[in-house]
Amino acid sequence: MSKLQPVRGTHDLFGKEAQQFAELIALVRSVGQLYGFEDASTPIFEFTEVFKRTLGDTSDVVSKEMYTLEDRGGESLTLRPEFTAGIARAFISNGWQQNLPLKLFSTGPLFRYERPQKGRQRQFHQINFEYLGEASPYADIEMILLGAHILSYLQILPKCKLEINTLGDKESRTAYTKALVDYFTSHKDKLSEDSKTRLEKNPLRILDSKDAGDKTLVADAPKIQEYLTPAAKQFYETVVSGLKDSPVGSILTINPAIVRGLDYYSHTVFEFTAFSEEVGAQNTVLAGGRYDGLIEQMGGPATPAVGFAAGVERLLLLAPKIAYRIKPIAIVAMGESAVNDAFKLTQAIRSRERIAEMVTHNNPGKALKKADKIKAAYAVLLGENELKSGQFVVKNLTTGEQETVAKEAIVNYLLATKEETYEL
Ligand code: ATP
Ligand code: MG
Repeated sequence: MSKLQPVRGTHDLFGKEAQQFAELIALVRSVGQLYGFEDASTPIFEFTEVFKRTLGDTSDVVSKEMYTLEDRGGESLTLRPEFTAGIARAFISNGWQQNLPLKLFSTGPLFRYERPQKGRQRQFHQINFEYLGEASPYADIEMILLGAHILSYLQILPKCKLEINTLGDKESRTAYTKALVDYFTSHKDKLSEDSKTRLEKNPLRILDSKDAGDKTLVADAPKIQEYLTPAAKQFYETVVSGLKDSPVGSILTINPAIVRGLDYYSHTVFEFTAFSEEVGAQNTVLAGGRYDGLIEQMGGPATPAVGFAAGVERLLLLAPKIAYRIKPIAIVAMGESAVNDAFKLTQAIRSRERIAEMVTHNNPGKALKKADKIKAAYAVLLGENELKSGQFVVKNLTTGEQETVAKEAIVNYLLATKEETYEL
C-alpha cells in the first residue's frame, strides 16, 4: 500500500515549524492586548448563507473557493473561508450590541478551494482583528497602526509597503459604479470573460481582477477619489493625514485599484504587501478595511466596524527563522526500581513551573545519552544506591560538572539553576 498522503493544499506542522507557529500567534495576541483586544472564537463551519450573503456572489471566494457540504440533516454548511462573516453572525446571534465597542481577536484554520502554491493553501490560518462599534476615522488609523505594530514585532515591516484606498459611502459608490459601468461598457470587447460577468453583477470587482488585459483597462479607469461625497472625502482625508503623520507615513501609497476581494467593505481599505521574493507571487500579507454596512445587511443593528486579517503561513515565510526552546531537567531512573521516585521528582519540578522529563535506562551511560537527546541542561541520577543513601548526583550536561545533593534539598537546588535555551 502506498503511504497515506495529506489532502492537497493541507500541511502537517511539526517540530521547529510548529513551535514558530505557536510563538507567532502568542506574540500577535500580546500586541493586540496593548490595543485592548480580547479573544473571540466562532465555529469552524456556518450555514452556507452566512458567507454567501456577506462576501457576495461574484467574489472569488463565493464563486469558486468555498468548501460546501450538505450534512446528514440536509443543511448546507460551509467551512469558514474567513473570519468576519462568522463574527458578524455571532454579533447578531448573541446580541453583542449591548457590549459595544468591542475589540476581538480570532485565530484558527480557514478553508478555500484554491490552486496550492507557495503561500497559498487550501487549509490556511489567519490572525484576525475586528473593532466593532466605532465610526471614527481614528479607528481606521488605529487598526492600520496595529497591523504595522504586529509586522514590526515580527521583523516583517521593513519588507512591506502599505497601500490604501477608499470605497467611500453608499452614495459615493453608486456614483462611482455608474462611471465605471460607462467606462468598461465602452471597452467591453477587451474585458476577460469573468469581468464581463462582473460588469453585469458587480463592476467594482473588475478593479480587483488579476487578468493582464483587465489590468491595462483598470489603469485608465475613473478613480473613486473623484466621486466621493463631502462626508466620505473628509473621512478619507482624515485617515490619510493621520497615517502620513505616523510611523507608517514613509511606506504609505494611495492605490485606487485596491477594492479588496469581498463585497462588504466601505470607506478605508488597505493592504500591507511584501516586495520580498520569499512569499512568491502571493504578496498580500495583511489586509482589511471598514465594513459599516455588513451587520445591518445581515439583519442586525447598524454597526460601524473596521478589521483586518493576515495569513499566518505568509507571515512565517517572511519572519526570521529562529525558534528557541527551554532545556528540560532530566530525571534519570537507572533501573526499574528507581522509576517511581524519579517520576514523583519529575512531577514535583513541573508543579513548580520548571520543565522536567523522566528518562529511563538500566545502563547509566545510555541513560545520559537519552538525557542529551532531549537537550536536557541537567541530569539527576537516581539508582538503587542513591535512593538508599538519600544523596543524588546532579550533572550539569553543558559543563560536565557534578554535585551531590541531598534528597530533601533537590527540588530547591534545581529550581535555583538558571534556565537555558537551545535553538531549534
Ligand atoms: P489573495 O489575493 O492572496 O488571494 P485575498 O484577497 O483572497 O488574498 P483575504 O481574503 O483578504 O485574501 O485574506 C487575508 C490574508 O489571508 C491574505 O492576505 C493572505 O495572507 C491570507 N490568505 C488568503 N488566502 C490564502 C490561502 N489560500 N492560503 C494562505 N493564505 C491565504
Ligand atoms: Mg484570494
